[in-house]
Parts: sequence; C-alpha cells; structure tokens
Amino acid sequence: MPKHFKPPGEDERLGAIGIRKKKHLSSTSAASSEKVTRSKARAATISSDDYILEHSRLYMHRRSQAEPSADLLKALTPDPDLFLPMPKPHDMDWLAHHPEKGQTFEQFVAQPHNKPDAKRNVIHLLPLRFFEKSVPDDALEALKEYASYFFLGMKVKILKGKYFAKKVVHRKNPDTGHKQVNAEHILLHMLGLVQENSYCVAGITLCDLYPREEWNFVFGLASLSSRCGVYSLARYLPGFGEEEEEEGETEEESVASANLIRRACLLMCHEIGHMFGLRHCIYFKCIMNGSNHLMEFDRKLLFLCPVCLRKLHHSLAFDIVERYKNMLVFCEKYGITDEAEWLRRRISKLQ
Ligand SMILES: [Zn+2]
Ligand SMILES: [Zn+2]
Repeated sequence: MPKHFKPPGEDERLGAIGIRKKKHLSSTSAASSEKVTRSKARAATISSDDYILEHSRLYMHRRSQAEPSADLLKALTPDPDLFLPMPKPHDMDWLAHHPEKGQTFEQFVAQPHNKPDAKRNVIHLLPLRFFEKSVPDDALEALKEYASYFFLGMKVKILKGKYFAKKVVHRKNPDTGHKQVNAEHILLHMLGLVQENSYCVAGITLCDLYPREEWNFVFGLASLSSRCGVYSLARYLPGFGEEEEEEGETEEESVASANLIRRACLLMCHEIGHMFGLRHCIYFKCIMNGSNHLMEFDRKLLFLCPVCLRKLHHSLAFDIVERYKNMLVFCEKYGITDEAEWLRRRISKLQ
C-alpha cells in the first residue's frame, strides 16, 4: 500500500516557495491545530512586508536580469484569497494514489533540467493526426497565444502538421474498443522533428494514447532528454468514447469551444511545465498538480502557485505583472471567465 499523503502545513509551504516569516510572526506552538494555523495564515500572509525572501544567492548568475526582490517577494507571498493550500485528497484523486513528496524551489534549482538559452528558445507545437479529426486551427492558435504568455520570453511556433496513421503502433482499447496510438512510438517518430532552436516540441493530437500494453490510456508522455512530448486532448472532448471517430468533420466540429481551449491550455502548460523541470506540485492548488480524472483536472485553474511561479520565473525572468495582464487579455477574448476574474484580482493586488 502506498504511504498516505499528508497535506503540507504552512511552514512547509512557505519553505517550498523560499520565503520565511519575520521573527515576530513565527509560530511558537508546535501543537497548534491546522484550523488555528490556517486562520493565523489568513491574517498574517496578506502583506509581503512580514516576510523575508530566501535563496537570493540562486540568482547570482544573472543578477542583472532579476526583478527587484521586493516585487518578487510581493508576487510570491501566498495571498490566501487567491492561492488555496492543497487539501486532503478524495479517494479517487491523484495524491491518494500517488503520494508524491513535492519539489521545493531550492530543489528545483539543484536538479538538472533544460534551460532556455540564446540557441534553444522556441517552443514548437506540432499538430499530429492519426485516425481522427485534426486539432482545430483556432485551438492551435489559442494554444500558441497562451503558451507565449504563460512562458513569457519564449517564442512559440506551430510546426506543419504530421499525419502518422500508418507509421505508428496502435490498437483498439480492450475495454472501450476505440482506437489508441502508442505514445512511446510517437516519440520515436518525433525525434527527427526537433529543430536546432527547439527548446521542446509538444505534439498535440485528438487521438487517445497509451504508453504500453498493460496500461489503459495516458494523457501524455514526454522525454525530457530528447525534448519531445506528445499530449492528447481526446478525453477532454465532449462525448469521448461514445462512438468511433470517422473521417470528415462538420463546420460545427471544427470550431473549438471555450471549454476545449481552456482544457487544452491547461494540459499544454502543465506538460510543457514539466519540460522546464517543474515536477508535480503538492503545496497549493496549482496547474502543476497531478490529476487522476477529468473532474480533478477541471478543478484546476490556468495558473502557477507561488512555488511553481518562482521556479518558472527563475528560468525566464519575465515581468510577473505583464505576464498576468497578457493572460487576462487572452481569457477575456476566449470567454474563460473564472480565470479572468482571478487575474483581475491578482493584478490589482500586485500593482
Ligand atoms: Zn504531470
Ligand atoms: Zn504549484
């Protein structure tokens, strides 16, 4: 039996971000209940003046690019109205089945991962088609736009789509009977498509995937060393598995809904986040949380928590408020209303 997952307490969450309460605010009672700790946190975490930013030494190699630490500290202070601590998982949730240990900011910096540089600075999106419909063009354009905001500072380009149907290993799912493609095999075919300037190549398909015979399905699979990943939107489409996909598509089906665009952005940014060395987040509700089922996936917002934001900011050194403003324009344009509201509140508190 896997070990039981215990949600991190406030000190562990702050430690993972790399901030610390100033002395006069430190809790002295080790026996305080989680309820008391939470209400203290609510009262105490609102002002960044009460915290100290740790690990400044980890920015030494590019000090000139770093934001002033006061602005960074403000953005990393976990406002309890906007960042909810990770709760105890339900029976079917990811952390109930995968009791992960998390990755602090300090651990992230110490662990080897690809870093964008002057030579490799493009995220390439690669539409892949096997037996099913193509990824709608408007969804691809939306993905490109959101990725360019989420990973601000990176270029994002869409590669010419590939039609791989006859080349890759596939099967009919033994339970549902619908067609699936072997994701490991797709990655082998993608190796030759990595460009000289690719930070990574993200294959996107509407076909369902499986990683190896004994698995039922997988949402995505990546090889960090070869800079390739493949991700399927099949299980986020309305009516998935109800009928076998056929050639041809109606006018209506070729237009992506706001919900599909939201889910596609969620999946893509989570998966490309892994390419940047971000592991699953266990500290807050965050786009980098693992998800075991669609309801859990849909509960996520399109954003990074303060722990994961600091990791990505360390790699890209973007302007945090500018990044949020761009994301707000995107969410308003595509009618992604909950996220737009969250962004308005976040921006107003950071300015
Ligand atoms: Zn993941
Ligand atoms: Zn996170």
